Amino acid sequence: MTAMDEFGLIARYFAPLTRGAPGALGLRDDGAFIECPPDQRLVAVSDAVVADVHFFNEDPAEEIARKAIRVNLSDLAAMGARPVGILLCAILPRSTDEAWLAAFVDGLGEDIDRFSCPLLGGDTVATPGPLTLAVTALGEVPVGSGLTRSGAKPGETVWVSGSIGDATLGLAVSRGRHDALKTEDRNWLRNRYLRPEPRLALGRQLLGLAGACIDVSDGLLADLGHLASVSGLVAEIEAALVPLSDPGRTLLKAGEVALSDLLSGGDDYELLFTAAEKDRARIEALGQSLSLALTPIGTMTTRNGRHGDGPVHLLDLDIMYQDIMKRPANRPGYRHFD
Ligand code: ADP
Ligand code: MG
Repeated sequence: MTAMDEFGLIARYFAPLTRGAPGALGLRDDGAFIECPPDQRLVAVSDAVVADVHFFNEDPAEEIARKAIRVNLSDLAAMGARPVGILLCAILPRSTDEAWLAAFVDGLGEDIDRFSCPLLGGDTVATPGPLTLAVTALGEVPVGSGLTRSGAKPGETVWVSGSIGDATLGLAVSRGRHDALKTEDRNWLRNRYLRPEPRLALGRQLLGLAGACIDVSDGLLADLGHLASVSGLVAEIEAALVPLSDPGRTLLKAGEVALSDLLSGGDDYELLFTAAEKDRARIEALGQSLSLALTPIGTMTTRNGRHGDGPVHLLDLDIMYQDIMKRPANRPGYRHFD
C-alpha cells in the first residue's frame, strides 16, 4: 500500500462516495444507520469479485469497480428491489497504489450516482493474495412484495431479457479469440462481460407481474434450473428461441461457438422470469417501454416423469443434439470449487 494509512485512505477516497448520506456518518463511526420507510422492507445481497476469477488484474480499475457493484445490483434487480446503498470490503494487494485507487473510486462513484446507491460502510485491508472486492448491496421493496426464484406456477411462460451468451463470448475475446469479428463487435462483447447492465427498472416493474425471477449469472441453463428446482417445477424451453445478439449469431453461424456454449455461459446478468400467459401483452409493452428485448422461450410445467430428472427440458433436442455433436464440451454453468 502507500504512505497513507487506512484511515487517511478511507477519509480521502471512500468518504466522498457516501454522497452525504446522513446515516453513513461520514465513514467516521463503527457502522451506518439505515432508514427504511414503514411500508418498505430491506433486501440484502452480497457478492464478491476476485482478480483472475471474475475479472483480469490488468482490467482498468474503473471497470473493476463497476463490475463489483453491478453484479450486486443485478441481484437486487432479480428481487425487484430499488437500491438503497452498498457496503464495500476492499481487500487490496499491498502493491495497490493511489493512482489505481483514485481510478477505482472514479468508476465506483459514477455508478453510485447512476444507480442512486451511496457507499454506507465497509472495510479496507491489505492482503498478500489477489485483489478481492466484496460488496453488500441493500435495496427495498414494498412490504409483502418482492420477487423470488420459488414463485413460478405451472403454465407460466418463461421470459428472458436482452441477449444470452455475450459475456462468455466477451471473455473469449479478451483471451484473444474470435479475431475475425469486427473490432466494434469485439469491443461490444468485451463490454458485455466487463460492464453488466443490472436490469433494475425491469425488476421493479415485474413486482406483482412475474411469478419467479432470477438473474443469469451462472448461465441460462443453470440458472433456469435453479428457478425450476426451487419452484418444484420443470422448465420446458426451446433452445432456438433463446435471444442471441448479432455478434453471437454471427459466431454461431460461422461454427466458432456452439449454441450449448451460449446457453451455459455465465455473466450475462440478464433477468430470467416467469409470468402468466394472460400477461403476455403487458410484458411485451413493458419491454417496449424499457427499450429492452423481452423474449418468451418456454413454459413451466409440473413434473410428469416422462423427461428424466433434470429441471430444464429442451424441446428441440434434435437441434441441441447436432450442436452438442459439433462440440462435446457441453459444460453446465460455472461452479466454484470444481
Ligand atoms: P473498525 O475499526 O470498526 O473495523 P474501520 O476502521 O474498519 O472500523 O472502518 C471505519 C469506518 O470506515 C467504518 O464506518 C467503515 O464502515 C468505513 N469503511 C472502512 N473501509 C471502507 C470501505 N472500503 N468502503 C466504505 N466504508 C469503509
Ligand atoms: Mg469499530
